[in-house]
Amino acid sequence: MSDEFGPDTLGVRAGGLRSDFGEHSEALVLTASFVFSSAAQAARRFANEEPGNIYSRFTNPTVKMFQSRLAALEGAEACVATATGMAAVATTAMGLLSAGDHVVAARGVFGTVVPLLNQVLARFGVATTWVDATDLDAWRAAVRPETKLLFAETPSNPVCEIVDIAGLAGIAREAGAVLAIDNCMCSPALQRPMALGADLVVHSATKYIDGQGRVLGGAIAGRRDLVEGPLFNFVRTAGPAISPFNAWICLKGLETLRLRVEAQSARALGLARFLEEHPKVERVLYPGLASHPQHALAMRQQSAGGPVLSFVVRGGREAAWRVVDGTRLASITANFGDTKTTICHPASTTHGRLPPAEREAAGVVEGLLRVAAGLEDVADIRADLERGLAAA
Ligand SMILES: *Cc1c(COP(=O)(O)O)cnc(C)c1O
Repeated sequence: MSDEFGPDTLGVRAGGLRSDFGEHSEALVLTASFVFSSAAQAARRFANEEPGNIYSRFTNPTVKMFQSRLAALEGAEACVATATGMAAVATTAMGLLSAGDHVVAARGVFGTVVPLLNQVLARFGVATTWVDATDLDAWRAAVRPETKLLFAETPSNPVCEIVDIAGLAGIAREAGAVLAIDNCMCSPALQRPMALGADLVVHSATKYIDGQGRVLGGAIAGRRDLVEGPLFNFVRTAGPAISPFNAWICLKGLETLRLRVEAQSARALGLARFLEEHPKVERVLYPGLASHPQHALAMRQQSAGGPVLSFVVRGGREAAWRVVDGTRLASITANFGDTKTTICHPASTTHGRLPPAEREAAGVVEGLLRVAAGLEDVADIRADLERGLAAA
């Protein structure tokens, strides 16, 4: 279906399966296991001699529809869904790496990825080198003969740094390593890492794919040999599978993904321009602004700036907290990707456990605030930030 139709058509129709009931909306197949017509059929299914569903940890029609549709939108050969975004990152690492292997990862990745690699994977003999995401020479210098995985997120959360995906893909190819890109912040609506040379795209479906803050979910899309080989086998064997219910929410979320993310991104651009002019704002970090140091690169690999922006308020933590507490509409919450605008102070929440020096090095300064634009009237969101800033 992917070659024949455009992305809007794929978003609402790719991967759809219909049962004998003839339902129009995709069915939620909420069952743990599937029945067989005979003992012989059960044996054939288990022996992989006959296709069909067995048990929802590794075969479920609703999960399959979600996987096929996301693969189509990412321009990927295959996709495997997971319980959460972190389960997708863990599956990527545990599925691909063995003791003695080495990972190069961007310092600006999602916070929980750091202990996953430094503490959990390290116990299994996997070493990680952390590099400045924007410095291709640093990536190149960090590669060793045993490097098997390059991992980056772009734009990064919360400071909106951009990684040159095609540049990294070249480094990964030379090293014989796999390049995995976390595409949470843009989603396939605005950025398709596979087309730029990535081997795998990792998602927290909890964010824009659900898009309404309801469920947790994750997925890895990419090369068939990796996804249907070691990654699917890890999910089947270790069990970080998505529930059919959550997969159904995410599947239906994909139908409106592009409309939502494009509208949210347009709102974020408007807010970024407003904030850039505000006297209490020291600087705005948003890839869609010409003032962003990597604006040109961002506009080459993304179709818009994205729905998330960060800005630094003059006056440090005290002023930043006053902005948060001065808003009335924005939800004070660490999640993003919702239809409701969210605001958070990363230094005291999502990045609060990092030592202050490390935090500052990552750009998460005391005055930094992250806003994820929702779908409210842009004038209302802007008035809310204005109200917050008036309190700073
Ligand atoms: C939220 C997030 C994750 C983790 O996803 P969960 O669904 O919360 O486990 C990974 N990467 C990025 C960029 C995220 O924003």
